Amino acid sequence: MADFSDLTLDVVKVRRDFPILDRVVHGKPLVYLDNAATSQTPRQVIATFDEYYGRYNANIHRGLHTLADEATAAFEGTRETVRAFLNAGEAREIVFTRGTTEAINLVANSWGRTHLGPGDEVLISRLEHHSNIVPWQLLAGELGFAIKVIPVDERGVLDMTAYRDLISERTRLVAVNHVSNAFGTVNPVREMTQVAHEHGARILIDGAQAAPHQAIDVQDIDADFYAFSGHKVYGPTGVGVLYGKAALLEAMPPWQGGGEMIRTVSFETPTTFADIPHKFEAGTPAIAEVIALGRALEWVQQIGLSLIGAWEARLLEHATEGVRSIEGLRILGTAPDKAGVLSFVVDGAHSQDIGLLIDQLGVAIRTGHHCAQPLLAQFGLDATCRASFAAYNTPEEIEVFVEGLERVVGMLR
Ligand code: PLP
Repeated sequence: MADFSDLTLDVVKVRRDFPILDRVVHGKPLVYLDNAATSQTPRQVIATFDEYYGRYNANIHRGLHTLADEATAAFEGTRETVRAFLNAGEAREIVFTRGTTEAINLVANSWGRTHLGPGDEVLISRLEHHSNIVPWQLLAGELGFAIKVIPVDERGVLDMTAYRDLISERTRLVAVNHVSNAFGTVNPVREMTQVAHEHGARILIDGAQAAPHQAIDVQDIDADFYAFSGHKVYGPTGVGVLYGKAALLEAMPPWQGGGEMIRTVSFETPTTFADIPHKFEAGTPAIAEVIALGRALEWVQQIGLSLIGAWEARLLEHATEGVRSIEGLRILGTAPDKAGVLSFVVDGAHSQDIGLLIDQLGVAIRTGHHCAQPLLAQFGLDATCRASFAAYNTPEEIEVFVEGLERVVGMLR
């Protein structure tokens, strides 16, 4: 059994911050192991909505009244919180989006439309979430560039030799995830960035699954673009972040047009645009959600991402050991460097059935293709079961999951 005694994470205290963890599902205490899809939200973050709508709800930037000032200060203050979270050089390099998906679409539609054309190549990997595949496919169909795919081996590890072989002077962009949502593989993004830059290519890193589990330093990685979502890092849905190097963002055209993103609008002279980051934030943003995201990042940092990452690694070890005794169970994703994700299939038991039955025991896991169909196809699968861990999960919950799984598999065979 994995030993947790050297870790200083006070999980009882952590759990007290999450009202939802007191829920009973089908008569059983909830064991929430679907964190890679969406993590739960601490009461400090939930309280942000009450405070905002109860005290200073107002549209930002344009008002001269007190409430508008307060809302603007809280919103722009969060930009600084995110800057510090990513260790970006400047707050203006932080663009608020609806999530990782919108951040990637922003890069595709703004940077992509100005830099990609026939003869160019975009390099992605087989580990990608659909949100880092489909925007490039849509654009390639229009602009005529090619998409090349970095292969993965049987452990779900990117083939770095193939990466070096595939990249060339034609490569304009490398777009890869930092951590795979389907298998948990942690990719060597720093090295990948270095290789991309040696070839004059830009790199976009999808950090949706990395931000909740490890400290991110975009300057150390030297990332050109880095994206993540609020709802996977103990924050609300409807908000995410695109980090971009200031010089790149400045040179990019706006993506969406509307209020907030302009300097002047005229019928007689060309319309002019606001400076970054506002040039990319057309319309009224998700103000309360942005402020709540800031609170979530503060919550995470109070515990510390290295402690959270170590705790989850121990949970993963515990779960991996536990499920090994289940006959016919195959773990997908056995990379040496892996985040808290356990993806598996069981001979003779359909993943969907496992998910439905284990829910009856109060255990929430995810089943399906995890928006990574090309990856699963390589393994001859269209679905796996996935248990994924967060700071509030306990070793006892892992045991409930393992025992539940044993029971469910027994029923299905
Ligand atoms: N990228 C990865 C690796 C993900 O896991 C996800 C969500 O599951 C996304 C992108 C998309 O995130 P969102 O739906 O929040 O835009």
